[in-house]
Amino acid sequence: MTCRRPAARIGESIEDLAPGPGPLLPREYAELEWATDDTGDRYDLTARHPDGNRIEVRVDAHGSTVLFLGQTPVTALYEPHEFRWPEPVRRSATLTPGHLLCYECDGLGACDCCGGRGWLPSEPHGRSRRPQCAARRICPICGGAGELGLSQLSPYQRTRYPELGR
Ligand SMILES: [Zn+2]
Ligand SMILES: [Zn+2]
Repeated sequence: MTCRRPAARIGESIEDLAPGPGPLLPREYAELEWATDDTGDRYDLTARHPDGNRIEVRVDAHGSTVLFLGQTPVTALYEPHEFRWPEPVRRSATLTPGHLLCYECDGLGACDCCGGRGWLPSEPHGRSRRPQCAARRICPICGGAGELGLSQLSPYQRTRYPELGR
């Protein structure tokens, strides 16, 4: 009678679950590629599918730990849709008396860096969360108003409007 390590027996039992293609098995199951590895400390069973899915079972040879790992191919969670910039909240014709179009956003009101999304596209990770508005979505200069009061402009802000002169 041979005495084998329990982990190895578990591994072989798992292998028994992986027969060749059969009439009752879905096609995806038959396409799995199985691999086993006995490191001495651990027994690994890996099943890979050509579509990028992978399942791995790790059985600890010296303890009772069984670890299940899974991996899927990179998958988009939603369809990307084209971004449309919002309409400006102010135009020259709709300015409040005594106000000027914001020099930063030119009346947009929304952050003119991220367009009011609060994030920027950043492939391959998807999104960057460091736009100039710090995710507040509105123009940091006018606070979303799209205009600035002429009497409240700082000396620096006045330099952004050359038409005001000195
Ligand atoms: Zn922004
Ligand atoms: Zn603005």
